[in-house]
Amino acid sequence: MSETQEYVPSVIKAEEMDPKFKYKMSKHGAERIMLCFQCGTCTADCPIARFSDFYRPRKIARMVQLGLKDRLFSDEALWLCSSCFTCVDHCPQEVEIAGIVRVLRNLSVKEKGTMPLVYRELACNLLKGGYVYEIMESRHKKRVELGLPPLPKPNLEEIAKIFKITGSLDMLENVKTFEKVKS
Ligand code: SF4
Ligand code: SF4
Repeated sequence: MSETQEYVPSVIKAEEMDPKFKYKMSKHGAERIMLCFQCGTCTADCPIARFSDFYRPRKIARMVQLGLKDRLFSDEALWLCSSCFTCVDHCPQEVEIAGIVRVLRNLSVKEKGTMPLVYRELACNLLKGGYVYEIMESRHKKRVELGLPPLPKPNLEEIAKIFKITGSLDMLENVKTFEKVKS
């Protein structure tokens, strides 16, 4: 937090807490969330927390334990995690924080119907070309020049099928996007 920014504490009201939320999260792969004892190792080692005034994985773990789902879903900082898995490697309680963030993002899209524009674009690239980033022709040529093997040809039919079966296709058509995530 910058020196000029003032920390404004936010009082948690009892009605904001959903005691069942942690069980819902557990069903989606966050089984170890209740083992978090708030040591802060994840935040201390997180490369995003180092540069962000808002993103704190330890805080996310505590908010899940308390069942503050509305606050979590409306927090755009959730989209700052780079899925580097440093927090998972370093957590003494083996809490899968990176996975928990992924589950929260999925639930947030499902409940709120919003996601950052860049994530939608990455998903559309995957659907169209089989890679999350468009691979320029110059890149293919460079690989040949360097004697590297060609990139594997993606099976676009299979990818489209997966998007359909998982509901991702509907989601991409209906989701609302926002451009900037506060950092
Ligand atoms: S490192 Fe693990 S136990 Fe420590 S605060 Fe983070 S999630 Fe909780
Ligand atoms: S996976 Fe996300 S929360 Fe964990 S260290 Fe990397 S950026 Fe931070």
